[in-house]
Amino acid sequence: MGGRLYRYAHNGSPRYAVERDGVLYEATGDIFHSYSTGTAIPGGLASLSLLPPVLPTKIVCVGLNYKDHAAEQNKPLPAEPLLFIKPSTSVIGPGQAIVIPPGVGRVDHEAELGIVIGKRATRVARAQAWDYILGLICVNDVTARELQNRGAGYTRAKGFDTFAPIGPCIATRSNRHQPGPLTVEGFVNATRRQSSDTSHLIFPIDYLVEYISFNMTLEPGDIISTGTPAGIGPLAPGDSVTVKVESIGELTNPVIDAT
Ligand code: ZN
Repeated sequence: MGGRLYRYAHNGSPRYAVERDGVLYEATGDIFHSYSTGTAIPGGLASLSLLPPVLPTKIVCVGLNYKDHAAEQNKPLPAEPLLFIKPSTSVIGPGQAIVIPPGVGRVDHEAELGIVIGKRATRVARAQAWDYILGLICVNDVTARELQNRGAGYTRAKGFDTFAPIGPCIATRSNRHQPGPLTVEGFVNATRRQSSDTSHLIFPIDYLVEYISFNMTLEPGDIISTGTPAGIGPLAPGDSVTVKVESIGELTNPVIDAT
């Protein structure tokens, strides 16, 4: 079943809704196994207080997976996927604030396509990769660039609280095949700074599932973020940053200073 799965707060508890053909329905059950759709939600999306669509145990990110981004970072193309992990504590949902930590210098947006794992994946062959993918999601791989560039390590530079906005939904797949090229864009205050598509990924999605699941088990809800194209740039308090991926939607977050 294809559709867009949204998670939202209802009287303090999380619930799911599914959007099909522009209509939003309540969804009950387990999104990773089977769920049923209930009545339409009259107010639509605007009436919901959205949460992160999923709570991953880890987000496995791929660095330098677009040639143009590697070039703008003056880094050679990696011979193998460059992996790092954003911790579960860095996850926020649509509309939640990205908090710039004190004293870390420049902090950048990175618009990325993420995939959400649908069932436990250990040593999955590339040909079966799409059987393990529940759907697609927008990820903003927020990065403390100065920390990263001075060698503080990817985990520290990219693992701050609020540095992993995800959402706004999981675009689930009605078939288990690789989608065609999807546009990936990043906007700051409505100015487009990043624009590419997933045909430019150096390591494609099915290869990443095989490569990463050989290394570590991927749990349902875990996310693989496939890397960012060129055009990264700094964020400042007061900014609004949007990651837009074709067929998923737009993930927008305000940026604030730590108090
Ligand atoms: Zn990234």
